[in-house]
Amino acid sequence: MLRFAVAGCPHSTPAPGGTVEGLKRAKELKIGAMEIEWVQNVPSSVERMMEIRETAEVLDMTLTVHAPYFVNLNSPDEVKLSASIHRILRALTMAELAGARSVCVHPAFNMGKPPKEVYENVRRATEKILKQKAKFFPSVNLAYETMGKPTQFGTLEEVLKLSKEFDLYPTVDPAHMHARTNGLINTTKEWNEMFDLYEKYLGKKSLKNVHMHFSGIAYGPKGEKHHLPLRESDARWKDFISVLKQRKIEGTVVCESPLLEKDTLLMKKAFEDA
Ligand SMILES: [Zn+2]
Repeated sequence: MLRFAVAGCPHSTPAPGGTVEGLKRAKELKIGAMEIEWVQNVPSSVERMMEIRETAEVLDMTLTVHAPYFVNLNSPDEVKLSASIHRILRALTMAELAGARSVCVHPAFNMGKPPKEVYENVRRATEKILKQKAKFFPSVNLAYETMGKPTQFGTLEEVLKLSKEFDLYPTVDPAHMHARTNGLINTTKEWNEMFDLYEKYLGKKSLKNVHMHFSGIAYGPKGEKHHLPLRESDARWKDFISVLKQRKIEGTVVCESPLLEKDTLLMKKAFEDA
């Protein structure tokens, strides 16, 4: 099964909002998944996590999480590096309690270092993080995201290689790939090549449980500027939906359009009609 997730609580969630109310509203809209946006900070209430888990179970909602943006696993500053590791660990631990299946993480900035060296630094930090897996997040996946700027670590190959090494799966964001390459990765052929490479690294079965992002995106020579509604962008999103359908991709595709539920439903409908 493939589910389209809204990126955070729907705009139409009644006051006072919050994840539990957001889940209920998404369900009313016939959206079957949500990515919980812990991009500024990770909550600390265990009780609250239990509430989210129970609500999601009762409503049959698939949950993923987006970890804080303030992460750089390539930081030369020991304090910043350990704070980054700590933030990721907290997101994974709380995600486990909330019943989420995968946590998306922006891994690192390149800081002008050669790709091999950055990879090695991210790999070493990942080792540290995964030492805590059995104890704190046995069932949650650490999903490194493909990033939208060349100054960021996170080409498709980088996140696939790293994921393979640690038996993880990444968050592939074709919109970021489109922005990073200043306009490529926007055709059926290129998305098929993307999935071919994914399969080559992680195996055929891996495409039956993906954690992806998609949206329209504004970009330039320096890559990503900001996300856009599907219909205000150059994304050939209907073709992308057809590729998902043809290849029988399963798992979760998070719609990261600023229109939230509106574009999530647009993608869902196009998928059903394809
Ligand atoms: Zn992201």
